[in-house]
Amino acid sequence: MTLNILFATPEAVPLCKTGGLGDVCGSLPHALTELGQQTALIMPAFRQILEAGYAWEETGQTFTIPIGQKRVPGKLLRGCLPASDVPVYLIEQADYFDRPQLYGEQGEDYQDNCERFVFYCQAVLAAIKQLELPVDILHCHDWSTALLPAYLKTQYGDRAPWDRIATLYTIHNLAYQGDFWHWDMALTGLDWKYFNWRQMEFYGNLNFMKTGIAFADAISTVSPTYAQEILRPPLSCGMEGGLRHRQEDLFGILNGADYEAWNPGTDAYLGENVYDVHSFEEGKRACKAELQRSLGLPVDPAVPLLASVGRLVDQKGFDLVTRVMQQWAPAQPAQWVILGTGDPKYHQLLSQLASDYPQKIAVKLEFSNELAHQIEAGADMFLMPSQYEPCGLNQLYSLKYGTVPVVRRTGGLADTVIDASAGTQEQATGFGFTEYTALALADTLQRAVAAFEDRAGWRALVRRGMGQDWSWGRSATQYVELYEETCLRAQHRAGVSCP
Ligand code: ADP
Repeated sequence: MTLNILFATPEAVPLCKTGGLGDVCGSLPHALTELGQQTALIMPAFRQILEAGYAWEETGQTFTIPIGQKRVPGKLLRGCLPASDVPVYLIEQADYFDRPQLYGEQGEDYQDNCERFVFYCQAVLAAIKQLELPVDILHCHDWSTALLPAYLKTQYGDRAPWDRIATLYTIHNLAYQGDFWHWDMALTGLDWKYFNWRQMEFYGNLNFMKTGIAFADAISTVSPTYAQEILRPPLSCGMEGGLRHRQEDLFGILNGADYEAWNPGTDAYLGENVYDVHSFEEGKRACKAELQRSLGLPVDPAVPLLASVGRLVDQKGFDLVTRVMQQWAPAQPAQWVILGTGDPKYHQLLSQLASDYPQKIAVKLEFSNELAHQIEAGADMFLMPSQYEPCGLNQLYSLKYGTVPVVRRTGGLADTVIDASAGTQEQATGFGFTEYTALALADTLQRAVAAFEDRAGWRALVRRGMGQDWSWGRSATQYVELYEETCLRAQHRAGVSCP
């Protein structure tokens, strides 16, 4: 059965990205297309997208959306996901979306985020009608799209063309909820009767995440373990009631890695040093030397090079990483490379560490896709001691690049990395720990560094990880099954018919 799937998403690589959501929405549509499904995306026309150098054409379609007392105009542009035929529709509204960042600046959310994404959600529904888009499944991603299921189940639910649309709401990170003061409810245009503890209200506020959970036909998140973890505190972030109520409709599907973009055999950022599972020793040695040289660290193949790339926030375990760096830097023979941006406290702490130990610690406080690739290739170990990790993509990239992941066993990390402890050595692909403490991370790193000294054992570990396939194939098939199931559930609930 071929389904028409429309992705409502704020991010998709290579158009714009702040994290894993962008990776997923840029690569899953390709994988679905390969399975014979019809996919398209609809996104806000963020400045990053319009300035990225891709071609966009006018559709000639304009509209106005009521936002509280205002009527806000918008228009629709059309293009494609680069290097594909997957259509992308952009909702242009310069006041809302032509800004330096997607959601906020200098650690502060934009004050009118509620208004911006109320507009976006209503504009998606207007676009479906005006562009006559065929949609069986509206696949909504994270809080900024979470009003869509509510509109479809209320104001729009009994009218063509919207009455045939089933919604899947995917939670990429439950902690980012879109929580706004209650008067913003007036911006949505929805009846205040929905502002109740089962649907849109959360401790007196309007909560987009809760709304998506309450109204979607099915809900998914990005790994089986995270789908379980979010049913209870602390990882439920207060949503346990709503999620348990929808437990029958909640699914966990692992993200895949995009091996077109993340493949050490073809990675343009590695220049001549590309490598595969047969040539990784030579290739990684060259990439490591290049990385050490470019970051001003001593070029030394024997010293273990520990790396991390990501948002510098508590979630990612940087309090543990920085504590172990402080303990190890004076005496332990290890090099550290950190690439990321985020919380100013980590910017400060990491900059201090880099200036105290320039021979051992290199820190880059920026967003650099190129360096992220070079770190994946050049490092020996990749650290992800996350407090929680809905799926995590970097450990999948690390496995492919022969960079052994050291992870905390949570969410997708628990689902994808097998610890090299006794008993599982034949399957091991990395190192894991459970307790969220600097001691547990340090012990695990000691184990990893000891294993690194055993060259034959390390080669086997690397080879095993590189040989695994975490591409989208399997997960995309699971999404197709879930779309079909979502259609059936919507049909069952409302009497709509699906293809
Ligand atoms: P999350 O979505 O929670 O941020 P993921 O591991 O799922 O974490 O995905 C993060 C993605 O963003 C990865 O592709 C990672 O390489 C990328 N990324 C994060 N920070 C940076 C940075 N400073 N420079 C380059 N890439 C980054």
